[in-house]
Amino acid sequence: MLTQDEPPLHRNASVHQRPALWADVPDAQWDDWRWQMSHRLNTLEELSQLINLTSEEIAGLTIEDKFRVDITPYFASLIDPDDPLCPIRRQVIPLGRELRAFDGMMEDSLAEDRHSPVPGLVHRYPDRVLMLLTTQCASYCRYCTRSRIVGDPAVTFSKAEFEQQIDYLRKTPQVRDVLLSGGDPLTIAPKTLDYILSSLRSIEHVEIIRIGSRVPVFLPQRITVEFCAMLHQYHPLWMNVHINHPKEITPELSIALGKLADAGIPLGNQSVLLAGINDSVNIQRELVHKLVRNRVRPYYLYQCDLVKGAGHFRTTVAKGIEIMEGLRGHTSGYAVPTYVVDAPGGGGKIPVGPQYLISQSPGKVVLRNYEGYITTYVEPDDYDPHMIDHLDRQAPQRAENGQSGVLGLLEGTADTIKPEGFDSIHQRGGVQHRLNADEGKWKPYHLHETPVQPEAIETHTNGSNAKPRREDSAVPKQSE
Ligand SMILES: *Cc1c(COP(=O)(O)O)cnc(C)c1O
Repeated sequence: MLTQDEPPLHRNASVHQRPALWADVPDAQWDDWRWQMSHRLNTLEELSQLINLTSEEIAGLTIEDKFRVDITPYFASLIDPDDPLCPIRRQVIPLGRELRAFDGMMEDSLAEDRHSPVPGLVHRYPDRVLMLLTTQCASYCRYCTRSRIVGDPAVTFSKAEFEQQIDYLRKTPQVRDVLLSGGDPLTIAPKTLDYILSSLRSIEHVEIIRIGSRVPVFLPQRITVEFCAMLHQYHPLWMNVHINHPKEITPELSIALGKLADAGIPLGNQSVLLAGINDSVNIQRELVHKLVRNRVRPYYLYQCDLVKGAGHFRTTVAKGIEIMEGLRGHTSGYAVPTYVVDAPGGGGKIPVGPQYLISQSPGKVVLRNYEGYITTYVEPDDYDPHMIDHLDRQAPQRAENGQSGVLGLLEGTADTIKPEGFDSIHQRGGVQHRLNADEGKWKPYHLHETPVQPEAIETHTNGSNAKPRREDSAVPKQSE
């Protein structure tokens, strides 16, 4: 089925009408992704033929060293030429305001460059990596989180860097999930992408490959049946698209998403909460409903990063929480994304949302639902978490040293997590006689502990490598 010839797009009322500017372009060209890529709009002159530009847009387009502007004719054709607040328009047409600095602004707000073991690879989490394959996109989002590296026309996919990345992955067996991003990996020549995917598939410990792409939105013509058949060879392959507003879900995008889903690719959506574009419960609800109708599962809703150029797109976190309040329970669970703040400084994604757990006492939790109904859940008084230990010991352990996190506190491999400099500041001048004498006084006592050297500076271990609780289960408990 996947190798059939491309079905023609049905030219009927369900395909949106082209602006007059392109009325004479034959369908065969308009539907060709190469034509779309080579006819992108980027100058004030070109854009003013299509849109009634405001003075601030003209200022934005005139700035000398602005983040790259390029818009596919298809995506530009979705812009309302007379509405300066059009959500499509706001995402791709620069404003003079872009240059305005704001409190907290950074160039690399996620500290990706710091987490990069080889060029183009970001290894932030224990078991998965982000692979930046190219700096090119089909069109450029004004709020781009990677505007520091994206868009340079002189830099495209580098085979030499890719070989270094592959080499790193081969030597790093804890990586089971590789996320292809950029730039946009779907702008890479199909043959090259085929080569990249097959190289990744040759690494046994890489269990899943994910592609993050906005090409289906900017350039749905790129998603041909032939292209999907190529992707189909590399399962398990997942894809996250990036749709911010229901207006972006055109018949063309629906067809593209349908082809990807028919190729067996589980689809997710990562959207960014953007002031004046989608910072409304009603717009988000319409968006997530349209997504699930197109077999796309809302995955993340991102708080806009503290990135240069994106200041005027930022909302409060409170707005995001209000949106989550308006989704959870009010609509299908499948339609509810996780709202995350990608922590400035490289802390990674932190989920935030309304509180549903209202209170707690031993044996009882008090919860509220989306309607404000308050209820109690009575907990078992004979629950024994050690019953699972014999099976748990057989399950693979994937923790990387120092990344057990708060779970480590719960499991007992660490007692505290300390901010940098905590020890020295609390040693008040490092009075040696006192430190030596007192150390035991603030070290918790653990039963059945085998003393070993503390492993990390930040994670203060309790001196036991294994999980003490599990070991506890091997000996009689006090109640027995
Ligand atoms: C977002 C991200 C990932 C993937 O995170 P998930 O929560 O697994 O989707 C991986 N690496 C980096 C650097 C990221 O920013």
